[in-house]
Amino acid sequence: MSHNGSIHYQTAGRPGSEIGADQHAFTRPRNNQGMACRRCGRPLDRPGDYCLSCDTENADAVVVEIGSTRGTLTMLFEDRVLGVTDITTTPESEPTLSTTQIRNYAGRIADEIRRKRPDAVYVTGELPVIQAMRSAIRYPVYRVPESEPVESVLDRRGEADLEVIETRPRDKIGGAHSTVIGGRDGMRAVETVAGHPNVKKVVPGPIDAGGSGSRTGMRAKVSRADANGNLRLVLRDGSSVQENRVVTTARDHETGERVREDLNEGLVEQELRSE
Ligand SMILES: [Zn+2]
Repeated sequence: MSHNGSIHYQTAGRPGSEIGADQHAFTRPRNNQGMACRRCGRPLDRPGDYCLSCDTENADAVVVEIGSTRGTLTMLFEDRVLGVTDITTTPESEPTLSTTQIRNYAGRIADEIRRKRPDAVYVTGELPVIQAMRSAIRYPVYRVPESEPVESVLDRRGEADLEVIETRPRDKIGGAHSTVIGGRDGMRAVETVAGHPNVKKVVPGPIDAGGSGSRTGMRAKVSRADANGNLRLVLRDGSSVQENRVVTTARDHETGERVREDLNEGLVEQELRSE
């Protein structure tokens, strides 16, 4: 197994340093937080690792920031930061990452996440790497804003997490109407929404072809949550409009709005979102 890059980790509060070695490199932690099992006290190889000795989860969430040459993983348990791990990828001569590089980079991030067995993964950054990472892990993945992603996750942690639906995206799409406007892009928008862990079902609605839209190309947008936290995915393609019902696990309007923001960010990432 060859590594095209390096892994560097630190516990909370320690400044990072650049490691260029090909093997897993690390700095010795300044304190023990996150490096020992919270239950049995055995030392862990990396901060927040799942303890195989006593079968205990030490990190309940991982925040992943994916840059073009470096990924940063921050391990959390409840409202505490346990530690940080950096994974770097060696840039090639081309300005963008090659397919192989993306796969390797995403694979190493996924390996690191699997060591923690977290309840949730929060991610921001390079879309192709996020997509490859997402398909390599089975944990629910949520998007977070690019600026201060760790803080935004910690802010959310006070509230109980919404129920996660494990069903495959395609199996969440159903109802009386099976047609989705916008061709492949329309279907991509529906699947993006259905792929969200807090979405139970997307029900395609009737198509209104009498609109006055002059815009070309398919555009998608998730509209404001109702009192139960359910949403509508509005697709526009030329003069056609389709409102698709999105049933979520949100409890109320406020938590529904949180899911909506997440979904609209997903549509922006897929270049499907309209104002
Ligand atoms: Zn343990």
